[in-house]
Amino acid sequence: MEIRSTADFPRAEEEIMRIWEEKKIFEKLREKNKGKKRFIFLEGPPTANGMPHIGHALTRAVKDLILRYKAMDGYEIYPWIAGWDCHGLPVEIEVEKKLGINSKKEIEKFGVKEFNRLCRESVFKYRDEWIKMSKRIGFWIDFSNAYVTMEDYYIESVWWALKKIYEQGLLFKDYKVVPYCPRCGTPLSSHEVAQGYKLTKDPSIYVRFKLKDEDAYMLVCTTTPWTLPSNLLLAVGNEIDYALVEYEGERYYIAKDRVKEVLGEVKVIKTLKGKELVGKKYERLIPFVKVNFDAFYITHGDFVSTEEGTGIVHIAPAFGEDDFLLCKREGIPLLKPVDEEGKFTETPWKGLFVKEADPHIIQWLKENGKLFKSGEVEHNYPFCWRCGTPLLYYALDTWYIGMSKKRDDLLKNNEEVNWKPEHLKHGRFGNFLEDVKDWALSRNRYWGTPLPIWICPEGHVYIPDGKEDLLKHAKPDSVPEHFELHRPYVDELQIKCPVCGKEMKREPYLIDVWFDSGSAPFAQFHY
Ligand SMILES: [Zn+2]
Ligand SMILES: [Zn+2]
Repeated sequence: MEIRSTADFPRAEEEIMRIWEEKKIFEKLREKNKGKKRFIFLEGPPTANGMPHIGHALTRAVKDLILRYKAMDGYEIYPWIAGWDCHGLPVEIEVEKKLGINSKKEIEKFGVKEFNRLCRESVFKYRDEWIKMSKRIGFWIDFSNAYVTMEDYYIESVWWALKKIYEQGLLFKDYKVVPYCPRCGTPLSSHEVAQGYKLTKDPSIYVRFKLKDEDAYMLVCTTTPWTLPSNLLLAVGNEIDYALVEYEGERYYIAKDRVKEVLGEVKVIKTLKGKELVGKKYERLIPFVKVNFDAFYITHGDFVSTEEGTGIVHIAPAFGEDDFLLCKREGIPLLKPVDEEGKFTETPWKGLFVKEADPHIIQWLKENGKLFKSGEVEHNYPFCWRCGTPLLYYALDTWYIGMSKKRDDLLKNNEEVNWKPEHLKHGRFGNFLEDVKDWALSRNRYWGTPLPIWICPEGHVYIPDGKEDLLKHAKPDSVPEHFELHRPYVDELQIKCPVCGKEMKREPYLIDVWFDSGSAPFAQFHY
């Protein structure tokens, strides 16, 4: 190597890289340590459809530092292979942009087969850039044997894990209120939601519900006026103190603790417990959606508090978890005048995205004497971590992994993990486990690992033991050309129920892409 009087680090680095390549230093090091005590290293896979950025360079530098140290210390780093995360919304959104489309309807019209082909093509758009960057910063890893999450061997490994989970009764479908991105048309998991909180301004309005047999109103605050046409109940707390007050010639019920903040100094006529309000009927606030069952009364909700609002909560069961459970308890069905793109399907605001309908609804309330006051609130609200659309809370059929049932095991295992930095163990990660939620696993999308659950009309369930087993159960002439474990191919198979022989249908979902990368510890080797 040439020694110069002025330092030219980039040149020196390139020179060293050249020597490494030429003399196959990385390969020799691996050969030398083969069979020695193993240091297990899992490369968490990046998505290669975006350019690497400085954050990637940093984490790669840290990984490399530890691996080199361990290798010099005589360990066999295992398996020391790269990996590529290939599925999911990041890829789909990239292709949507390229095609100039922006909705699921347009994808369906374009054709799922061709759409997914473009996704596959787009995945490795920047793979060469990634490899170049990694090598340039001196990151040693085996790129030629990288695992690839979109290949059939990987997908069937993920399926194997899901089957094991199903057999333990921990993979199940539930109709629940979930955070939902109306642009992507799919629910998100709690860890995805946690990534997308932003400080944002929303309307904060007070509306008044007229009681039926009394000359008084229930005063209610909401930041989602668009849910008001779907209101079915009002909730109070049995043991909370409420006040009947007089304000500008009218009478209002409101939690005693909230009077001052909401109304200022007013005359209190009487106070009473929430349970004395339970059962009272009120006049419907916004009349447009048809209701042919008993509703519009006051009931108890144990989630009601007096920390904000008025201590009286408006209940729209399709759009809130508490609301949903409360109406289930009361035997009240859902009212959901909103489609999967987040647009009204009835009411005068039909066709409008719900958040865009807010000002119109506020105007309507005002004109009809139902608005008490309106303002704005700045609060943390979740947005889609991929496309930036505000999330809505929606009642949907979703498949879950019963993480909460495994909480104790998870906590126990966490105790055995040697965390660096240590504070994460009982800090961020430990807290996450303490409060672990069931994992909303299914996604209503196109490019990803299909949920491997087939169900027949009799309710029998079939989960294949991999690709070969799936094809064995399929009618031979239903197997499409160039078959692969993706949509739409898997849904073209005609599967006969192994129990009753009737034709089965696949649950039409994909799984959360984070389950793909989470499967890497075993799926990188095939299962
Ligand atoms: Zn989205
Ligand atoms: Zn069957």
